[in-house]
Amino acid sequence: MLKKYGLLSIIGIIFLIVLIFLTSSPLSFAVPNIEEAPSIPATTQLLEKGPQPDVYYFTEVNDVIPTNNKPEYDIFTVQERKERQLAAELTSIEPYYGNKTIYLTFDDGPDPENTPLILAILQENNIKATFFVVGTEVSKHPELVKQIYAAGHAIGNHTYNHIYRELYQSPATYIEQLQHNDELIKNILNVRPRISRAPGGTIGHFTTEYWKRLKTEGYIEVGWNISSGDASNAKADALIQNIISQTNKNTFLWSHAILLMHDGRGHSETVKALPSIIKFYKEQGFEFRVINKATPPAW
Ligand SMILES: [Zn+2]
Repeated sequence: MLKKYGLLSIIGIIFLIVLIFLTSSPLSFAVPNIEEAPSIPATTQLLEKGPQPDVYYFTEVNDVIPTNNKPEYDIFTVQERKERQLAAELTSIEPYYGNKTIYLTFDDGPDPENTPLILAILQENNIKATFFVVGTEVSKHPELVKQIYAAGHAIGNHTYNHIYRELYQSPATYIEQLQHNDELIKNILNVRPRISRAPGGTIGHFTTEYWKRLKTEGYIEVGWNISSGDASNAKADALIQNIISQTNKNTFLWSHAILLMHDGRGHSETVKALPSIIKFYKEQGFEFRVINKATPPAW
């Protein structure tokens, strides 16, 4: 009898040791976890991650998009849409032409010096803008991408590396760069943009094949019709004058004035000029909107 209980307790102790070992050992992590989070977040999961910005999400239902002044993001990449046999191409909607509408756009960031200052100026003025971000900068400054998104601004895709000779080799290399940047943005935000802007503009870079590919992949290419001229070494005062004179000269663009500026490295004059630029448009009675599907073509 005693022998029997002795044997049982030894078995029991061995069992306990094995159990403790299994649960504490790193080996237990090697067991595949069936309940791993799905790679595609549902809209509800996006909302669970704390307060969300006031944005519109493209989900499985791709075709019902209200005309609004909200940034639009997709919860799927192009690839994921294809895998799920969801429509990638966007249905067209009536563009929004206001009486006086200004879209402030900032390219080539995010930048650790300029972008936070621009975000602060926009916040002080209680207005939203659009940031066309470059993939190489996105991967260096993910926290800035989050800040832009959380503040309710629109984020657009400005390709992965902005290097013309690589980008414009072919429509395929261009699309690859957009999708690379999409992946980087989605890894940070769980969503990715549908709007894109070709570095240096589409003229002289795009053939009809580029436009065709962008359309089938569901990207909205966004140009501009007012240039701040901040790609040069111009000082803040010159930028302000430049913008005001172009705006006054082209009153036919007031229904959809799309202003090109840069928040990338070395554009501190743009930051200096921005409060006066905003003041000018406010005094003229312009409405500030973010770029989305309802934004008319620049020209
Ligand atoms: Zn650029």
